[in-house]
Amino acid sequence: MAKPKAVVHEKKCLACGGCISVCPQDAILMIASKATIYQEKCISCGICVKTCPIGAISEGGDKK
Ligand code: SF4
Ligand code: SF4
Repeated sequence: MAKPKAVVHEKKCLACGGCISVCPQDAILMIASKATIYQEKCISCGICVKTCPIGAISEGGDKK
């Protein structure tokens, strides 16, 4: 089974750009003022999840 990738909850995202600057994979892009994670690049490191000030990113998958 594939490792769950981080996902942005677009309705919450404030487009602060914080997650983009910390992603070691450059896997996050700002599209239409919402952070969008390029799933093929994401290595599920979780840094963006911890960085987002409003908890708009979750680790992905359904269970943990
Ligand atoms: S989990 Fe890591 S690799 Fe994936 S988008 Fe977030 S910071 Fe980037
Ligand atoms: S850190 Fe959170 S609020 Fe800021 S751009 Fe990323 S997902 Fe959006």
